[in-house]
Order: sequence, then C-alpha cells, then structure tokens
Amino acid sequence: MTTPDISPPPNFIRNIVEEDIKNNKNNGQVLTRFPPEPNGYLHLGHAKSICLNFGLAKDYKGRCHLRFDDTDPTKESMEYVLSFQEDVKWMGFDWGQHRYFASDYFDKLYDFAVLLIKKGKAYVDSLSADEIREYRGTFTEPGKESPYRNRPIEENLDLFSRMKAGEFPDGAHVLRAKIDMASPNIVMRDPVIYRIRKIDHYRTGSQWCIYPMYDFTHCLSDSMEGITHSICTLEFEINRPLYDWVLDALETPCHPQQIEFAKLNLTYTLLSKRKLIQLVEEKYVSGWNDPRMPTISGLRRRGYTPEALQNFCERIGVAKSNSTVDFALLEHCLREDLNERAPRVMAVLRPIRVVIENYPENQIEELECPNHPTNPEMGTRKIPFSQVLYLEQEDFMENPPKKFYRLAPGREVRLRYAYFITCTSVVKDDKGNITELRCTYDPATRGGDAPDGRKVKATLHWVAAGHAIKAQVRLYDHLFTTPDPEDGGDFKANLNPKSLEVLSDCQLEPALRDAKPGTRYQFERMGYFCADSDSTPEQLVFNRTVTLKDEWVKIQKGEKK
Ligand code: ATP
Ligand code: MG
Repeated sequence: MTTPDISPPPNFIRNIVEEDIKNNKNNGQVLTRFPPEPNGYLHLGHAKSICLNFGLAKDYKGRCHLRFDDTDPTKESMEYVLSFQEDVKWMGFDWGQHRYFASDYFDKLYDFAVLLIKKGKAYVDSLSADEIREYRGTFTEPGKESPYRNRPIEENLDLFSRMKAGEFPDGAHVLRAKIDMASPNIVMRDPVIYRIRKIDHYRTGSQWCIYPMYDFTHCLSDSMEGITHSICTLEFEINRPLYDWVLDALETPCHPQQIEFAKLNLTYTLLSKRKLIQLVEEKYVSGWNDPRMPTISGLRRRGYTPEALQNFCERIGVAKSNSTVDFALLEHCLREDLNERAPRVMAVLRPIRVVIENYPENQIEELECPNHPTNPEMGTRKIPFSQVLYLEQEDFMENPPKKFYRLAPGREVRLRYAYFITCTSVVKDDKGNITELRCTYDPATRGGDAPDGRKVKATLHWVAAGHAIKAQVRLYDHLFTTPDPEDGGDFKANLNPKSLEVLSDCQLEPALRDAKPGTRYQFERMGYFCADSDSTPEQLVFNRTVTLKDEWVKIQKGEKK
C-alpha cells in the first residue's frame, strides 16, 4: 500500500495538456468528457474521474461534456442517469449545455459501420459466440481467421442491413472490424463492433435491435464531440490501438488523444458498480445511498461534503501506476473540512441519568455557549442547565483504572460551559446495574472555571434531561472487515456484520430540534454527525459521518502502519 504525497506535483496529464496548449495543438483548446455508463450509481472512483475531467476543463478554460455511455440495453436505466446528474452537480461541476448520450448517436454510428464495410474494413461474421472465442487464440497463440472474413462487401452490406431490420435472432451474426487475427494484441484480432440484441433500450425503445460495442462507440463519440483529451483508466491501455484504428480507418477529422491513468483503489472499499449492485440487490445494504456505501449518494447522505471529496481527489493525485489509498486519508480530508464548518453541539449517545443533589429542583439556567471554538462569527446559543442531566455512560466508571480521568465516585470533573461536579454516590437496580449517579456541584464554578484555581482532569459533555430531545443515531464502521475486500476471493464473505449500530435513546440538546436533513454538526467529543434523510421533527435521525480520532495523522507520524 502506498500513501500519496500531501501536495502532489503537477500530474502527467496536466503536463501533456500544457504541452499541447503550448504547441497550439487542437487550437490550444481543452475538451474533456466524463463518460459513465448508467448501470449503477457513481462511486468514489468516479469522483476521481469527475474531478480530473471537469477540473482540467475548468483550469484550462475548456469544457467537459457529461456523456452517458449507454450502448448496453440490458443494464441501463433513467434512474441511473438522473442520479449521475445529481451527483456531478453536487460535486460542484457543471456540464452546461453539454449533456450527451451515446444512444443519440446510434444512427450516426450505424452509418460509420456501413462506411467501414464499404472500405472493406468490417465484415459480418456468422460464427457463434463460442466459435469466435475459440478462433480468437490466446496470449501465446495467434488467432484463426473466420471462414466469413472475406465475404464480398455487397453481401456484408446486405446482411448488416438485415441485422438492423431484425431478420436474425440474437447471436446469429455480428459485425467485426477486419484488422489482424495474428496481432499480438488480442483486442486487435477482429473485434466485434456490433451485435444483435433484441432488447428494448431505456431511451430508444424498440427502435434498434443491433447495438454498437464500447470500443466502436467510444472513440467515435469522442471524435464527433470534438474531444481533445480522452482520459480513461489504465485497463483501457490495450484498447488504445483499437481506438486509434477505428478513427484512422474512418478518417475522422477529429482524432482525440486517449490518455490512461490509474484507478482509485481505497482500503476497506469496493469500487465497482458491478459488485456494488450485488450489495444493493441482495440487500446487504439499504440501497445505493446507504451511508456505508462508497457511492457519491451514500457519502452525501452520510454527511460528506463535496469540498472534502474534491480535496481528497486533489491530494491522491493522478498517476500512471496502480496503488491503493488508505481510507484514513479520505476521512482526514473530511475532518479538515467539517472542523471549519460544523457548529458544535452537545449530544449524549448512551445516556446515564445524573442528579445534582444540591442544585435547586425547579431551577433552569440558560448558559451561553459558542457554536464554534475558533470561528466567533458562527455565534452563540443558550443551553439549559437543570438538576437532572444526562452524561455519557462511558464517561463514568465505578472502579476506574489508573489512566481513567473522567467521572468516578468521589471525583470532580468539569461539565462543559457549566459547572464542576463531584460524584457522591451510585444508584443501582436489583441486578446491580447502575441506573443513576448522584453528584454535587460547586456554584462558584459557573462557566467552567474554579475561582480558586483548582484543576480537574476531564471536561464532559452533557444535556439537561427535561429539555433533551430523544433521537436515533446511526454509527458506522467500514463495510468490510479486511483492507482488501476481495481477500480470499469472495467480497461478501468479508462484509462487516458490525458496520451499522443503531442507538435509539440518544439525548440531544434542544438546539437540534429543527435540524433539517443534511445539516451537519460536531457532537462534542463524539464526532461529526449529519441529520439523515429519514429524519423528521417527530423522530430525529442522525448519521455519524466520521469520528474525531484522526488515524491519518498517526499514519503520517509513523505511529501506525
Ligand atoms: P465500474 O466498474 O464501477 O462500473 P467503470 O469504469 O465501468 O466502473 P464507467 O461508468 O464506465 O465505470 O466509467 C466512467 C468513468 O469513470 C470512466 O472514465 C472510468 O474510467 C472512470 N472510473 C471508474 N472507476 C474508476 C476508479 N476506481 N478510479 C478512477 N476512475 C474511475
Ligand atoms: Mg462499466
């Protein structure tokens, strides 16, 4: 596992683009595209590609197209299209008028295929799919030419138009580029460029029963849109000769440059729509936007900010070789952003009742607290203090070990913004479980300081019992137990059974009563939280976005591997 530099140097793609601008290649223009297939929801890997493509366009005053690469009618849908649009916008990018669909090019792509046949560079093959595979050869052995390879052009044209007309069943024929069955690059051994699929398409309905393949569609879509730099991930490197071959064979006026970069891989995370869809369909998660999912919609619901994702994408940089990024870096970027923007509030997640014996029973004090420790412009709020409070169960121990400095019998601690309290006794039920703590307070310590200068070792958060709002809080852990979810071969075997913990008796300070879904806070000492889309004024629901403990800082200091 490699850990990226915090400030990456200008990346190799930027260098290429800058060189091209300097040489006035493409008239100095930069046109990129983000071309997802609408067969799932966008994930963090796509975020990297979005930041790269839209980012280049922004920085070099060009433009970036949003293109739906929708040539496989079996898996695509409008739901996915709409979700992509929402996600790209949320990430902070804008395609303006430039939204395209490969399916809008079906007529043109068909014409290109006809032209390729006329040039003698494509033929209709009638071998079965299995035979085609067999004839293709292997990495070590050359392929074998199909007996249909030398069909006359007229016959190819006739068959191809009848394929389009729906005269043949699926698999009866395919259209193949006529390149070189002995090429050392398997991709170049007469790749299939059209196939029969008698399936309705979510946009073109039953208009087509032949569909173009990715390698044929992608380069031509780029070319028709005038893309200058066609940026894709490394696994397409071996397809680059085919990208170039198609455009050369058709002598297109625009020939974009394909540039490959390394995919984002992240520990404890799967970045593949094909696999993520299994988690959704087999109900391992509540949906594509389950806050544990690495999808943009899941991260949004969890409370991530677009700024944090952009910052993360900048820090990981763009490289030419594959590596895996530590999830802790993503969380570090998130904390940096939330630390600045999230107002502080107090919330007790696992409450224990505390009675301040010497505090007047019906007295309520309003204590003024800052909403942010270092940004005074975020203002203040008043929180009530009363005789009965809730503290966090984990902040009390009846028999504390040496290094436990929080509340214990006889011990004095500070309640944040309030008073010093001392625990005087513990109340238990018949089974010996602690049900209540009895404490006294020192009225002289109002605001949290002792005039006599005496010190306490802990400051605890709290809420006033009579004013607290009950809420549900969902705590999350990684969706997988292993840094590489594919460890052992079956990612589902590595799912973390404890990735979600629901706490239903959390007590929040009254300021949170009107928290709208999507609002983010720091619950002091407990982490950053975001009101969930399920949250209503009657039943508040919060997601823990991230804890406060920054593993990345430890990794940087070499304290943790
Ligand atoms: P998936 O396996 O999730 O379906 P994909 O590459 O098939 O991924 P597409 O929707 O076809 O997804 O890709 C859209 C764009 O996003 C492509 O340019 C692709 O290279 C890029 N992309 C996809 N996954 C990653 C990743 N992990 N890191 C960086 N870019 C990615
Ligand atoms: Mg795909």
